Amino acid sequence: MRVAIVGAGVAGAYLANILPKEHKVDIYEMKEKDKWWTVCAWGTSEPFISELVRKAGFKFDDYVLHRGRSMVVKIGEEELRIKLIGLVTYDKHKLTEDMLEGHNVFWGKQIKSREQLMDYDIVVDATGFHRSLLPKIKDDICIPSVEYQVRSDNLPYDDFVIKPYPGLTGYWWYFPLGDKTAHVGAGDYYGKYRGELENFIRDYGCEVIRKIGRPVRVSPPSRCLPFYTDGVVGVGESIGTVYPLLGEGIIPSMQCATIFAENMENMEAYTNAVLKHFSIYTKVYNFIRAKLFNNFHIVNMLPTLLSVFLYMKRSQTRYGLEVRLSDFFRIVTKL
Ligand SMILES: Cc1cc2nc3c(=O)[nH]c(=O)nc-3n(C[C@H](O)[C@H](O)[C@H](O)COP(=O)(O)OP(=O)(O)OC[C@H]3O[C@@H](n4cnc5c(N)ncnc54)[C@H](O)[C@@H]3O)c2cc1C
Repeated sequence: MRVAIVGAGVAGAYLANILPKEHKVDIYEMKEKDKWWTVCAWGTSEPFISELVRKAGFKFDDYVLHRGRSMVVKIGEEELRIKLIGLVTYDKHKLTEDMLEGHNVFWGKQIKSREQLMDYDIVVDATGFHRSLLPKIKDDICIPSVEYQVRSDNLPYDDFVIKPYPGLTGYWWYFPLGDKTAHVGAGDYYGKYRGELENFIRDYGCEVIRKIGRPVRVSPPSRCLPFYTDGVVGVGESIGTVYPLLGEGIIPSMQCATIFAENMENMEAYTNAVLKHFSIYTKVYNFIRAKLFNNFHIVNMLPTLLSVFLYMKRSQTRYGLEVRLSDFFRIVTKL
């Protein structure tokens, strides 16, 4: 098959490396190479991602920047300390760049419709938040976010810190990158972070290496249908593979690419496999949506919350952090 992958983010780059070699793959990226950047805080779970990365022929260990020991969660005046069991930051930009190496990448080519790529048997919409080729999503929920990559001799923390906003409408984060650098960012549905990041930069005498940002889609796959139409198929955040509670989309994008590679001859099977794999995201989304729009009632939500907790507890290695019932309920009910 001739395959065009539109979007050189983690989903597109990973997919290019795991598709069976008999396919002819081209990648189209709207940014010029020197302007292209993997907008992200670069946090992920080392034990889990290592295996995915190995399947693409890379060694994750080579890209790790900081291995977390604990994460402080600030809830008002209170602080929870969560033990980390694999959460790291890694040089996502370098790894994605290395994954693109040796592939046929057309930089600076913005694709707006399937008609531009009629020579291909299939076109993959891996354009993330943009979802440039698939139909628009009704009532799509995307959380605006901004992030600074900073350097300073006076950084106040040496490990992960997050501060969820009241109503769980988003959170502020500090992710260490080693060598006196960090990502300081925030995402919030109502943009509550305005000014806060700039205060941090001023207070700690930070040099800004770069300012980046874009909205993160938290609508789950079940709300992002169709995944396939007129020879275009979505992979990654374009079809909602971001864990809505955390805004975590690296591993899910790679998992989605894997599901695509296994089902590329049968789009119905692909759709069903994605819906099945990410079914818990719908529950998490229902909870986040209730919080966002002030419809949250603990009694009505209890079954959903319990299944989300049990899922997180079972998936501790997957998320790289220890999940305790008391912490979970403190965070979801206090805010
Ligand atoms: C500020 C921020 C912090 C985050 N932090 C984390 C984190 O720490 N850990 C985590 O797991 N997840 C994080 N995420 C989420 C994660 O980064 C994304 O879910 C993931 O990168 C999605 O991968 P993707 O390849 O589907 O899309 P993207 O990474 O967004 O890649 C899409 C690519 O498509 C290109 N493109 C778009 N439209 C077109 C077009 N029309 N033609 C050609 N090219 C096009 C874009 O330029 C881009 O290169 C964060 C997201 C944001 C915004």
